Amino acid sequence: MSSKRLLIIRGRLIDPSQRLDEKRDILLENGRVKSILKPDSLKAKTIDAETFNAQGLWVLPGLIDMHVHFREPGGEDDETLETGALSALKGGVTTVLAMPNTHPPLDSVKILNWLQNKSEKIKAPNVFFAAAITKRLEGRVLSDFKRLKDGGVLAFTDDGRPVMDSAIMRRALEKSREIGAFIISHCEDLNLSLGRPLNEGLPAFKKGIPGAPWASETSMVSRDLILAELTGSHVHIAHVSAAASVEMIRQAKKRGIAVTAEAAPHHFVLSEEDIPGKDPNFKMNPPLRAVQDVLAVQEGLQDGTLDAIATDHAPHQKSKKAKGILGAPFGVIGLETSLGLALTHLVHKKILSPTRLVERMSLRPAQILGLRNKGTLKIGSDGDITLVDPRRKWTVQPPFASKSSNCPFIGMELKGRVHSTIVAGEIVFRAQGNA
Ligand SMILES: [Zn+2]
Repeated sequence: MSSKRLLIIRGRLIDPSQRLDEKRDILLENGRVKSILKPDSLKAKTIDAETFNAQGLWVLPGLIDMHVHFREPGGEDDETLETGALSALKGGVTTVLAMPNTHPPLDSVKILNWLQNKSEKIKAPNVFFAAAITKRLEGRVLSDFKRLKDGGVLAFTDDGRPVMDSAIMRRALEKSREIGAFIISHCEDLNLSLGRPLNEGLPAFKKGIPGAPWASETSMVSRDLILAELTGSHVHIAHVSAAASVEMIRQAKKRGIAVTAEAAPHHFVLSEEDIPGKDPNFKMNPPLRAVQDVLAVQEGLQDGTLDAIATDHAPHQKSKKAKGILGAPFGVIGLETSLGLALTHLVHKKILSPTRLVERMSLRPAQILGLRNKGTLKIGSDGDITLVDPRRKWTVQPPFASKSSNCPFIGMELKGRVHSTIVAGEIVFRAQGNA
């Protein structure tokens, strides 16, 4: 933590937690927000602060991505905590929640402590962990929720795979409620999806590739909503991709079920019709769906049925993705493009206002994760800030800060990008050129 002061002047400060969207100066001190002032009301010299001129930029509470895979331990050729961290900062992301489907998975305090030791050496971003619901992600025996929660995990999930046994999922929900945590559910009925790489529909059929139906997702969403109702527990639905799932979550919220949900940029930008040939960089789970599903995900983000934008950043080295659409693993990277995609495809198209964007990418994730001093720029909160150039045009191109480059957006022109990333009052990333 720095004792320095940083005064960010003349930016457009957008902070839905204070219903603020106006030109303001903001002073950070000792890693926290010290004050918010009318423009030019404070001279940096008089208070011995470094000045950052944010004229023309948006000043947002730091972005929070509650769904990333950093691959440590066991997948260091795909990503490490260190390269994942750089990728986050380049994307304007100041806090992440790392998923536990590593090798071995994070299903014990021993592995949690090993990861925490490693992540403490990384200055930024803030890295939090989710632990496995079941030992070895096998879907059979619950991991030790209490000890893992006491050790600092924020949520439980077997992400990458579903908990197929409904009785185990019921117990997991009950247990998480008892200890004040929550469950993140990867919704997929494996008996319906059968590991198939694309969405079941005409585009996959024309390519001669087997598809998984939307129902493999929605049937599990339905089960988990029912179990959340039964247990009174909070379930968070990961990477919602199907229109029917969005509608089911919308109705569940109306009925007062404790559900939150997220969508990934690839699911609000791309449909199954955008997949060039059999390109494995367009293979992810859940798959790119039909155009009406993309529109439904956008609507869900607009009306708040889908609380958060989360990337499901899933790096895989080239040799793995070179195994063809059937043999390659599921997943795409996302941290470095999520903000640009959301600005281009949601904000500039008037689907989300800038305020709503901040809700989806910062405030709601902070609330869901229980991070009270994040997702906001209220006085005293953490000095995590994302500075955005909303009009800057750029083209998605490697190299990426991520160790992997399995990105379906390469070559796409975007409008709006990260200008600088600040964590705990320190500038930890500045964009340069077209990179
Ligand atoms: Zn998943």
